[in-house]
Amino acid sequence: MVSGFSGEERRKHSGKCIDCGEVLELYMLDLKKNRRILKCKRCELFHTYTKDLLGKWKLAKAAKVSDL
Ligand SMILES: [Zn+2]
Repeated sequence: MVSGFSGEERRKHSGKCIDCGEVLELYMLDLKKNRRILKCKRCELFHTYTKDLLGKWKLAKAAKVSDL
């Protein structure tokens, strides 16, 4: 499922739960590490995004616990 995403699509929908598709809300922003964590409103899954060299946010991990 994840491999089918295009770059454009990812930019538009950077905040969608990979599990249930619900909109994500910002949980934590870590500018020092170029990282942000979003949380699903419905199933409470944490999504960790990191910024790549081009400045795009990429999903690095999704987990039920935010092990920062
Ligand atoms: Zn969800």
